[in-house]
Amino acid sequence: MSDFSLTNFNQLGLSKPLLDALAAKDYGQPTPIQAQAIPLVLQGRDLLGIAQTGTGKTAAFMLPSLDRLVAASNGRPVPGRARMLVLAPTRELAAQIAESARTYAKGQHISVGVIFGGVPVPRSIREVSRGLDVLVATPGRLLDLVDQRMLDLSALEILVLDEADQMLDLGFIHALKRIVKLIPVKRQTLFFSATMPKMIRQLADAYLTNPTEVAVKPAATTAERIAQTVTHVNQAEKQALLTIFFQKTAIDRALVFSRTKHGADKIVRFLDAAGIEANAIHGNKSQGQRERALGMFRSGEVPIMVATDIAARGIDIPGVSHVVNFDLPDVPEQYVHRIGRTARAGAEGIAVAFCSPDERHNLRDIEKTTRQQIAVASLPEGFMAAVEAIKRLKPAPRKSDTRERQPHSGRRFTPTAEIKADRRERGQRRDARNDRQADQQPQRHPQRAEGHPAHRPEGGQRKRPFRGRRRGGQGSRQVV
Ligand code: AMP
Repeated sequence: MSDFSLTNFNQLGLSKPLLDALAAKDYGQPTPIQAQAIPLVLQGRDLLGIAQTGTGKTAAFMLPSLDRLVAASNGRPVPGRARMLVLAPTRELAAQIAESARTYAKGQHISVGVIFGGVPVPRSIREVSRGLDVLVATPGRLLDLVDQRMLDLSALEILVLDEADQMLDLGFIHALKRIVKLIPVKRQTLFFSATMPKMIRQLADAYLTNPTEVAVKPAATTAERIAQTVTHVNQAEKQALLTIFFQKTAIDRALVFSRTKHGADKIVRFLDAAGIEANAIHGNKSQGQRERALGMFRSGEVPIMVATDIAARGIDIPGVSHVVNFDLPDVPEQYVHRIGRTARAGAEGIAVAFCSPDERHNLRDIEKTTRQQIAVASLPEGFMAAVEAIKRLKPAPRKSDTRERQPHSGRRFTPTAEIKADRRERGQRRDARNDRQADQQPQRHPQRAEGHPAHRPEGGQRKRPFRGRRRGGQGSRQVV
């Protein structure tokens, strides 16, 4: 984590139990946003944090808040009430925040609950019924419970709005305004957003009292740790380019972005037909399907995930080595969000973009926003052969779930001799690199390598480099 500050956690004023929890998580030093925000939040100040997911902002607001909650606690929380509310735009982000809160609060008498749509309402009601110190919620489900008089926000002490810009993009503005009206004016408010358009600035002005502004590097600078390239390609040939990309590239985990849900499913089916396993995650998938796909992605079992922007928001998946912009987003900030899924917490990442002639204007907008030109990568060797091979392939039949795969019909993509030679060479280089790293480097983020415990496969299976698995359990095929 080269750009993390040199401050120590024990210089920030946090209590001993929290320092112990951090040591157990192997957090060496605070990230810049943690170093700046923790002392201010401990003092009870309102905070406007401009930071993306991946900067360590969850701990930046959660750690000092937990200390304040413990200090001001007078026993058990009141049933049906919460003391701290963290609002998050997506289920996945809400679940992750709650998970982090539980880890940090280990050994202390702090109750943490999480509620979001897609799970039965009675479960959410049970979650809040005893009263909570920390409640993490998505706005819709929160209002459901308030409307059913199952939750009372009138005693709230700390309000956190996380990913406020995403909240707005997702149309939660009215819900947000309603929620804030239900919360006492005398409270501590912590407001986080990756970007600061005018609307967000106005919202922050309305909700925060004399806030301190803390900004970690602007998105464009964050992107410096990400090697970015763009390849110009016809829309109809993107699938061939993606297939050849995965056949030639050693990945740990790759997120492929599609503008539409239908497009995401189609990409998965084409990859499948070419013998490359991937899952899709988008709004049409059930909560169970999303969790299963996420679990397989985290564990490395299926290390390629095709996602829409909305579904991927806020997901903190450590170890994403590659982001593929299969379609370029219409909104340039979205590009920044997308590529921010890789290069988390100081790691390096690779982002590739496929740009069709129709998308040139999107590319220009992105380059203007990030104030940098994206290097152009030429079409890879063997591309034309891949295009021809793809033309002969039928996409695999639709499948509704990651668990319900049927063996596909249609012809397999057959790599050319060049591709095979290239893969062999890359494989050898990667094996040599992995060996060197294993020898030389201690694990910097053991907690990140573990992934989400809820998604860990039985037997604690570890992450492994991508092998382009043929489906049907017939062994693995190295595709590098
Ligand atoms: P966040 O920006 O809150 O989503 O955090 C991104 C990732 O960085 C999470 O996996 C955290 O567990 C990890 N992380 C946060 N703070 C630190 C730290 N000080 N040292 C190491 N890892 C951290």
